[in-house]
Amino acid sequence: MPNALIEDWKRKKDIASTENAEIVKRLKRKAGKQLDQLADEVHDAVFKKIDCLDCAGCCTGIPPIVTKTDVTRIAKDFGMTPTEFERKYLTVDEDGDTVMNATPCPFLEVDNKCSIYEIRPRACRQYPHTNYLDFSKNMRLHLPNASVCPAVYHILREIDSRMR
Ligand code: SF4
Ligand code: SF4
Repeated sequence: MPNALIEDWKRKKDIASTENAEIVKRLKRKAGKQLDQLADEVHDAVFKKIDCLDCAGCCTGIPPIVTKTDVTRIAKDFGMTPTEFERKYLTVDEDGDTVMNATPCPFLEVDNKCSIYEIRPRACRQYPHTNYLDFSKNMRLHLPNASVCPAVYHILREIDSRMR
């Protein structure tokens, strides 16, 4: 059965950019501990209603940053050298970050599972950067992410309504 929050986001995401920007602007003014605590709570509540396996928007649309530590860990599991892994799976993007070289991610499976889930890059573990009391620190990411991630779209709205 389609997920109600994901379907709602799909219907509205293309016309919501101005509204998203206004919400982020309001929340920026409230950045700090209280906002981060609320965001952590709302993050958990929204992810109780959204199963990432029904979505995979991030794995499909945004190549994650892969750090040297990630490369060492994943290459070892694959029985490859870090250089072999880098040549096969990574590239450098326009910001100079080392990222996966393809979208959808080469490790995304047909059922939306990650074939390297237990050893996936740190960036994948942290996405969408709305919990761990890191919400204020990652404020610049929330606007673009609201167009990619239905959870971020709903988290922003719920926080905004509770902060008013
Ligand atoms: S490594 Fe796994 S979690 Fe990260 S983008 Fe690829 S499929 Fe998604
Ligand atoms: S885009 Fe958001 S909701 Fe979709 S899979 Fe990624 S984290 Fe989960």
